[in-house]
Amino acid sequence: MRVIVLGLGVVGAAVAANLARRGHAVTVLDAAGAPARGTSSTTFGWVNGNNKQPPHYQRLNADALREHVRIGGEDAGWLVRTGHLEYATDDDHRSRLTARVERLRDAGYPAEFLGREQAARLEPDLRVAPDALIGWFPGEAHCFPELFVAAMLGSAPVTVETGHKVTAVTGDGTVHLADGSRRTADQVVTCLGRHTGSLHPEVRMVEPEKGNAVMGFLGRTAPVPVRLSRVVTTASVNLRPAGGGSLLAQTLDQDVHADPDGPAPEHVTETMRDRIAGRVGVPVRIDAMLVGQRSLPVDGLPVVGPVAPRGYVVASHSAVTLAPLLGELVARELTGEEQERLAPYRPGRFAGEFATVRPARLPGEQ
Ligand SMILES: Cc1cc2nc3c(=O)[nH]c(=O)nc-3n(C[C@H](O)[C@H](O)[C@H](O)COP(=O)(O)OP(=O)(O)OC[C@H]3O[C@@H](n4cnc5c(N)ncnc54)[C@H](O)[C@@H]3O)c2cc1C
Repeated sequence: MRVIVLGLGVVGAAVAANLARRGHAVTVLDAAGAPARGTSSTTFGWVNGNNKQPPHYQRLNADALREHVRIGGEDAGWLVRTGHLEYATDDDHRSRLTARVERLRDAGYPAEFLGREQAARLEPDLRVAPDALIGWFPGEAHCFPELFVAAMLGSAPVTVETGHKVTAVTGDGTVHLADGSRRTADQVVTCLGRHTGSLHPEVRMVEPEKGNAVMGFLGRTAPVPVRLSRVVTTASVNLRPAGGGSLLAQTLDQDVHADPDGPAPEHVTETMRDRIAGRVGVPVRIDAMLVGQRSLPVDGLPVVGPVAPRGYVVASHSAVTLAPLLGELVARELTGEEQERLAPYRPGRFAGEFATVRPARLPGEQ
């Protein structure tokens, strides 16, 4: 089968590699000048099945985390499975964390509480209130998405063509490019992330607006002389290693100021800097402040399935977590094995009214 995959973020890379490994002739087209220039380069990259609802979606994320491990993410270097610590210091957060740890444990997902000293052995330089309730999720991980994309492309014979903006795709497998040319394939798989609606308006994505659920800041620090080895979430700031001693941070309550048309305001950068410094106990400098835009279907769930006889769409939030599993399931489905577990995520579900998904503002949300 000749397949054209549109979009070369984590999703397009995983879909392309899984199809190419099965012997299909796969070409990936992307508008950007290089792979992984979309949301996959402005992400917190926490790989988890933690605060996901409903249960089928939690299981999908938990299985995707296992898939990252199964296909060798740790050896290849895109996956760092050092777990996740969540610190709750107010009553509301404590009760939400308690309920979540119990629910996840009941579902067979590794989740427990740690004492202060046990947590301090894991993160000796972290400063948190002595009476914090500490949740520990030992199986979780953080990802370097560019390395994931590189590993996918290196794992199978995929033809990559960057700098090709797609303007339309028709149900007979014809792809129209901005330069006026056309390509045809037996199957076209759209993996355009937040731009999915530009080719498939029937797939309802949340449009970016200042402070809505799509928008999120990410700050990358200059190298900091502290030991921080894993994802850490607290009410004021989320942290993870970003490589070379730098940290990646989120301040979810500040995301109300994130504007799709502008840079991060100075006060947001200062707030993030001060909160990171408070957690790690040394001054920090933020080298890069990014304004991320999530790829977010209106109900918050993935969109995966056929939209035409030769057209198929994959778009999702949390796709750094989900990409390897979605790649595998989509490749199976496109080679004739319908995947029952994709049934809740079909593109046809958007006919009626939808309540727009709530922004991620609380620790453990993403
Ligand atoms: C602030 C923030 C924090 C996040 N944190 C997490 C997290 O902790 N864990 C997690 O799992 N997920 C997280 N996510 C979500 C995750 O990053 C995304 O779901 C994922 O990166 C989407 O990947 P994608 O491949 O679908 O899209 P993208 O990476 O955006 O790739 C789409 C590609 O399509 C190309 N394209 C677009 N339009 C066209 C066109 N017309 N023609 C050709 N090419 C085109 C783009 O150039 C791009 O390369 C976060 C996102 C944000 C914004």
